[in-house]
Amino acid sequence: MAGLLDGKVALVLGVANRFSIAWPIAQALHREGARVLLSYQGDRVERSVRQLAESLDGAIALPCDVGDDSQIDSLFEAIDREAGGVDAVVHSIAFAPTEALDGAYLATSREAFRTSLEVSVYSLTAVAQRAVPRMEARGGGSIVTLTYLGGERVVPHYNVMGVAKAALDMSVRYLAADLGAKNIRVNAISAGPISTASSRAIKGFLQMAHRTAEIAPLRRTTTAEEVADTTVYLLSHLARGVTGEVIHVDSGYHVVGMA
Ligand code: NAD
Repeated sequence: MAGLLDGKVALVLGVANRFSIAWPIAQALHREGARVLLSYQGDRVERSVRQLAESLDGAIALPCDVGDDSQIDSLFEAIDREAGGVDAVVHSIAFAPTEALDGAYLATSREAFRTSLEVSVYSLTAVAQRAVPRMEARGGGSIVTLTYLGGERVVPHYNVMGVAKAALDMSVRYLAADLGAKNIRVNAISAGPISTASSRAIKGFLQMAHRTAEIAPLRRTTTAEEVADTTVYLLSHLARGVTGEVIHVDSGYHVVGMA
């Protein structure tokens, strides 16, 4: 059966381990026929990400710390050598210092604010700058990032990461406007709480996930596989008319006003 992403080259940034949302995304893109290129941050996770890459036919793992422009340049040079370009990018990266994800937002330091927004928000634009000429050369492309409701409403302890997600959501809209004429689409998926290394760093995460499942219209938590299937849709021809959008994959939690 033909895959929705047959013949596409897809870069997935943000696999740290098998619990990362980016990993089921990479598996789903591979299932739909894409050649998957994974990028990882630093030596600490290199071994586990390389092992994951080996389990997907044709996949490779490449290093890239998105806080360093020269590493992003090297990543795209490696992509040119390995795959001759790229059609799709999945940005599944965020970081905030742990101490900024507890207590009051009011206490956020200048350094925590700068690092959180640089890694979690600017990196999408920095990666898009390198991806766009490659996508243009192939007639177009699609970019997807991962966001959260804490960028639209106040969620306890999400703090500076909520401010970062609001800026990320707006970056998606500005990038969509910049790139639409080149047939490049840019969208975000707002995922419900999923247990990963990053989410568990947020104080009270497990209670929050439990409460979300009680209240959400679908009465259950979100799975990374649900997010992965929506990513396939956004990267595929099926979503050719969709750009600048934030799609909530959260069991419908975002529509509930009072419970
Ligand atoms: P994760 O910890 O598995 O993934 C975060 C990734 O960001 C890791 O791979 C980490 O290496 C990478 N990263 C951090 N700093 C980096 C840097 N300087 N350079 C390169 N990579 C860097 O956690 P996750 O939950 O899979 O997070 C993926 C995305 O999904 C994030 O944007 C997160 O905000 C978003 N998200 C998560 C949830 C959730 O509940 N888990 C909900 C909504 C949105």
